[in-house]
Amino acid sequence: METIMSSEILPPKEIALSNLLPSEPLLLMGAGPVPIPHAVAQANGVVINHLGDTMDQVIQRVKLMSQYAFQTRSDKIIGVAGPSSAAMEMAITNVLWPGKRVLVIDMGTFSNRFGEMAEGIGAEVDYLSAKSRPDHESATKPPHAITLEGVQRALAEKQYDVVTMAQGETSCGMFNSILPEIAATAKEHGALVIVDAVCTLSTMPLKMDAWNLDIVVTGGQKGLSSIPGVSVLAFSETAWNIIETRENKCPHWCLDATRAQKFWGHQQYHYTAPVPGILALHEALRLICTETLENRFERHELSSKALQAGIEAMGLSLFVKEEHRLNSVVAINLPEGADSAAIRNYMVERFNVEISGAFGLNIIRIGQMGEQCRSHNLFKVLYALGMSFKKNGFEVDIAQGMAALETNLVRDLDHFVD
Ligand SMILES: *Cc1c(COP(=O)(O)O)cnc(C)c1O
Repeated sequence: METIMSSEILPPKEIALSNLLPSEPLLLMGAGPVPIPHAVAQANGVVINHLGDTMDQVIQRVKLMSQYAFQTRSDKIIGVAGPSSAAMEMAITNVLWPGKRVLVIDMGTFSNRFGEMAEGIGAEVDYLSAKSRPDHESATKPPHAITLEGVQRALAEKQYDVVTMAQGETSCGMFNSILPEIAATAKEHGALVIVDAVCTLSTMPLKMDAWNLDIVVTGGQKGLSSIPGVSVLAFSETAWNIIETRENKCPHWCLDATRAQKFWGHQQYHYTAPVPGILALHEALRLICTETLENRFERHELSSKALQAGIEAMGLSLFVKEEHRLNSVVAINLPEGADSAAIRNYMVERFNVEISGAFGLNIIRIGQMGEQCRSHNLFKVLYALGMSFKKNGFEVDIAQGMAALETNLVRDLDHFVD
């Protein structure tokens, strides 16, 4: 009896979560996840049955509100229990298989990920890369932007089934300003268009139907200001026809769009849905509908531009030239000799504000997605940034920076970031 009842492996000690978390939550001003509104946090604490009348109504509303956010009339809107990358993988693995060809518009880590996924399932993958800088410059300068001529040339040379791209490349802060034109060219060549709008959806215009996009992917924790781990994607009729008529099986059971449609289209069991995350998503989308896309785009643009002006007025410089600069994630050059970790750590320790470093680039990044675009968060992050540079021995003009932020947050008394 004794040997059955007593565990050989003992429970670890000192496991209170409060030992790990700061006493005040950090203000998340990095490249995601972002702060969530109270309504989203509350909904995320609720579990209901994943099947049944209430959940059916929740799903119907999430789909209706998503149609608004994606600007599509398609009813093939599917949520995924998983990161944005899982939704990207659903897009890729449902319309590509061995023998299919895909052109990946590659601006960096995230847009490149579509290619990695397509290679994984044995599709034929070509990359059209934003032209890289020479090695000695590649960490200090952004890649040259993709051109429409480059895309047209690639599409004229080979027949592709699918073209993939991101609207915003979070890793380096580049904006794909010619997305609608690339999509139009791809469609002329008979290719499906898959778009990663993870950091951009609801922060800037994206018109799925008007731009003829076939699959648009987004995640929870960025533009939508919901929680990480529940993602959404929308399929055009053209994409759905391909999925419905494919003869081989989708290699992923969880990410099989036709199986997922059982739940998202017909309220039947596929797998147990991530209920709290879907309720949180409902609230995030509801807040977007209440604010309206137009007002939300304006808030994001005003906020990000004001932040950019403040950073420059302080004496720091931005990584990407204005014409290709992404407003959703602002990349800041690290001055010579600046230590990314030291700058960011001081902001955390002294001001409770967290921003992001970067993978291999000599930049730090501040997010401008959803709740990050609020005046109190902007003043706090810019002040903390300036103070941290000063503390680390760099000459910055905090007063000039704060003044530029303040003047740029207000367009007129009806249009300002609150
Ligand atoms: C964050 C991000 C992703 C990946 O999101 P995960 O939730 O980490 O999988 C993909 N694409 C873009 C543009 C992103 O910003």
